[in-house]
Amino acid sequence: MDKEILQPIVYYGGTFDPIHIGHLNICKSIAYYFNFQTINILPNHIPPHRQQPVANVHQRIAMIELAIKNEPLFTLDTRELLRDTYSYTIDTLIEMRHEFGSKRPILFIIGEDSLYSLNKWHQWENLLNYCHLIVCKRNHEIQPIPDSNLNLWIESHLEPNKEHLLELANGKIFLAPTPYFDVSATLIRNLLKSGKSCDRLLPSPVYDYIKSNGIYKHRVVHQANK
Ligand code: ATP
Repeated sequence: MDKEILQPIVYYGGTFDPIHIGHLNICKSIAYYFNFQTINILPNHIPPHRQQPVANVHQRIAMIELAIKNEPLFTLDTRELLRDTYSYTIDTLIEMRHEFGSKRPILFIIGEDSLYSLNKWHQWENLLNYCHLIVCKRNHEIQPIPDSNLNLWIESHLEPNKEHLLELANGKIFLAPTPYFDVSATLIRNLLKSGKSCDRLLPSPVYDYIKSNGIYKHRVVHQANK
């Protein structure tokens, strides 16, 4: 008898300060490649002692809502942002595992730069106990350090076959053959701060919202970000 394949739950976490076309295009490429119907955008809650996003929580939510309004692929999960306390990705994944049961694949999308700095994440070695990581290509200077703990860990969890990946609930890293989208939120914030256009880098409703709220004109640090 064929193995039953449960529909995976797909999350895409990030700061989204602001959400940009790189984020959306990455998700669309992955959805096309795997034939996913839904990707949940999971904006994160930055703890007060870390460098805060420029946009506040409500602005980040509003920009994501505008970006995905006419995009049926996406839904927004505000569970981390609307919590009173900061929670680590591992805590959210544990919560999701309780919610979706032990058998359903949970996929968490990250960029290559995030993969190669994963050892800065809280309990990074336990992340794969709850999800698979789907890694998108990114033009970035961060490269794996040969023979480092992180690199050995990555290599030992790589799964090259997407069908095999979806037979398991968690535990693997998949390097997705996504195109390069050479855009970052940092680039956008810098362009906006120096008064330059970001026309092609942002969905137009997001760009209009940023302009009408004057969000990235100056570098503002929100202490509590609430
Ligand atoms: P910043 O420049 O402020 O660091 P960012 O553009 O990297 O922001 P994040 O919200 O931090 O955006 O990104 C969320 C996730 O998406 C991260 O794992 C990041 O690696 C990935 N990502 C962001 N932009 C791209 C892109 N253009 N191509 C591939 N992955 C991306």
